[in-house]
Amino acid sequence: MEKTIQIHPHDVRDEGAEIVVANIVDRAGIKTIIAETGTLEERHPYPRGELEHNPVHKVVYTDACFEVPGSAVWFENLPFRPRLSPQALAGDDYIKDLAEAASARGAEVMPWVKALNAAFDGDVQEACVRTFRGEPVPTWLCPNNPWTEEYVTRLILGMLDRYPSRAILVDRLRYPDWSGATVSVERMLTCFCPHCEQAMEEAGIDVDRLKRLFEEFSKEPLTFMDWLKDEPTSLLLQSWLRFRQRSISSLAEKVWNTVRRWQAQKKAKTAFWLNLWPPSFAALLGQDYASLGRVCEGAKHFPYHRLGGGADLAAFVLALAGADSAVRQEEVFRDLRGLLKLGDISFAEYRQDGLPLSFVRDQTRWGKDLFHQNKIFAGIQIWDIPVEEIRATVEAALQGGADGLFFYCYGWATLAALDAVGEIVRGS
Ligand SMILES: [Zn+2]
Repeated sequence: MEKTIQIHPHDVRDEGAEIVVANIVDRAGIKTIIAETGTLEERHPYPRGELEHNPVHKVVYTDACFEVPGSAVWFENLPFRPRLSPQALAGDDYIKDLAEAASARGAEVMPWVKALNAAFDGDVQEACVRTFRGEPVPTWLCPNNPWTEEYVTRLILGMLDRYPSRAILVDRLRYPDWSGATVSVERMLTCFCPHCEQAMEEAGIDVDRLKRLFEEFSKEPLTFMDWLKDEPTSLLLQSWLRFRQRSISSLAEKVWNTVRRWQAQKKAKTAFWLNLWPPSFAALLGQDYASLGRVCEGAKHFPYHRLGGGADLAAFVLALAGADSAVRQEEVFRDLRGLLKLGDISFAEYRQDGLPLSFVRDQTRWGKDLFHQNKIFAGIQIWDIPVEEIRATVEAALQGGADGLFFYCYGWATLAALDAVGEIVRGS
């Protein structure tokens, strides 16, 4: 049973590698640390609260910069490369520091890589996803752009060589969701770049009609439930979602083949893990469990129930329904809940307590069923949750058949939560 915990760069820079490792090993009883190699546009902790054991910052805002100094050479002759953080530009490799401190305590560090989402330097306009209005999303690469395959392949090979480890976790191999620096429903409606438009036309998708639908949706978001009742519209949307899933699966397969060649060449056993949305949401974002289960050696999904399954669902409902009418919010939530199979609760209840714990069990089971015999690791929410609920969350994941527990995350959790994790993992 894998037991890991994920960390962010500022945890190590603010607390020091030795303290972070001591807290993880001694308090949480965990010896596998998964370290972020590039941040997101994100508030830490998300979406609220403070970093309780960080001696420098109460809240940190990150900006999707890359944390691997000297990595520019990986991306030579590409039109763009990930933008380095000021610390990485100055030569600071926090993952190396952490790995040294971990090794001294018998722990290990694995890289956590973001495939398609980063801040970029250079000309990324040609390769990034575009909304239905043709607006580029400059922090997100299109899976169908030829440069993207080259970029992601070099990124992952670079990581494999630089940070020898038992596994690598590859995240953000999907289309954008609605969260980011701001909540935007339009960011979800991609990709309409020339490569995708041509490929969609070839697949028989009426691109012009799709754009008109999304235009209508952006003016009156509530129309989307009517679409589902109208068969031709519903079929068009389904074929668009399937096109996106095929696009991501095809890129994942190419990456997997590259990783396998590397494993054979280097006689290395580094496992290739994916980071996926829970099954309820995955298909909407281009992640098809049945296909992806064939091109990796396991995947973490994140059914963070208090947050609505890893998604900031409340922010999405407010973006769709507006902030003024509670009745409208309840209607939108009821429809989304049905669509996503989230169980029978009201928006008011959801905002109070999140999704029920059964969500963790059911999503993990659903993922296992779709993933053939491959491994599914469950992300366990340990922040913004009553400490006494962590044990029940772990039990729910295990009831769902989880092959591992990925505690999320070190910096957002309180020390009391880390202690609770320690009691659970030592007792199991
Ligand atoms: Zn595209």
